[in-house]
Amino acid sequence: MEFFSLAEQEQIAVTAQAEMSRLTTFRIGGPCRWLMEPDTEEKLLRALALCRQTKTPHMLLGNGSNLLVSDEGIDGAVIRTCRLKSIIRNENLLTAQCGVPLNVLCRYAAENGLSGLEFAYGIPGTVGGAAVMNAGAYGGELAQVCTAVRAVDSCGTVHVYRGEELGFGYRRSAFADKTVLDIQVQLQPDEPGAIFARMEDYMNRRREKQPLEWPSAGSVFKRPEGYFAGALIEQAGLKGCCVGGACVSEKHAGFIVNKGGATCGDVRALIEQVRQTVHKQFGVALECEIRFCGK
Ligand SMILES: Cc1cc2nc3c(=O)[nH]c(=O)nc-3n(C[C@H](O)[C@H](O)[C@H](O)COP(=O)(O)OP(=O)(O)OC[C@H]3O[C@@H](n4cnc5c(N)ncnc54)[C@H](O)[C@@H]3O)c2cc1C
Repeated sequence: MEFFSLAEQEQIAVTAQAEMSRLTTFRIGGPCRWLMEPDTEEKLLRALALCRQTKTPHMLLGNGSNLLVSDEGIDGAVIRTCRLKSIIRNENLLTAQCGVPLNVLCRYAAENGLSGLEFAYGIPGTVGGAAVMNAGAYGGELAQVCTAVRAVDSCGTVHVYRGEELGFGYRRSAFADKTVLDIQVQLQPDEPGAIFARMEDYMNRRREKQPLEWPSAGSVFKRPEGYFAGALIEQAGLKGCCVGGACVSEKHAGFIVNKGGATCGDVRALIEQVRQTVHKQFGVALECEIRFCGK
């Protein structure tokens, strides 16, 4: 039986040839062969099992805010987590499913008088993507509050990872090759008003410094030891430099923005140009933070 029918039989919402440009914040990327959007954890597990049984390559997709997808698309299944959105509170501990947007989790925490996640307000990802990337900003990162992650390994076994097993480091974790189901964050009681004020302050700083008016995938490069990628790119005179529709942002040189019709090829060519120029001028090798996927 065809993959599509098997997915339907499992009652998993499935679409053929879904355009990834609609599902990524860069607004770039050709179609994936199958898009699956499970609305329960059980269906997510069945979707993973189906991919394993049919030997269909697959990847997880949160909000697509750290991805650059090939113009030729993805020859396999994309499992999008946007329908898995439960949050459970147990005193100061929150358990959030992988598809919960970080902003929703931050607001939930603030409304419940729980502090610790303010740094994440404005990061346009989901809990799953944030766990994989150990998302962070303004001196905070998920590793500081995340005490456990429930994830599925490549054999389909569900484990709870804690402490060292979480493998958190700068923009990395133990979950790159796993499927995050949910995470636990341990927070501290505080006044909701004070928490919201800190969140608003971080959001204002983003609005001021980041080119939020254009599609992008955030900071393209990791912070090189002892430097800031954006500052090096700016000093190299690359602000406003474009390849096709992809441009180094005038507002924040660490961002590449899609000024209209940018292709994956445009972005990759621009990234290469930036890396070579920065390396030549400063001897610093920039490493990509955004992830490439597809053909
Ligand atoms: C304007 C803007 C600002 C940003 N600011 C920041 C910032 O301040 N700090 C920061 O750290 N990042 C920032 N980012 C990048 C991005 O938002 C984060 O990396 C975020 O954590 C990615 O989450 P996502 O759900 O969009 O993941 P996606 O982009 O969908 O996926 C990222 C990776 O995680 C994997 N993945 C997603 N969900 C799961 C899951 N459930 N299980 C296993 N793997 C999964 C994907 O396969 C992929 O490899 C910014 C991006 C933009 C566009």
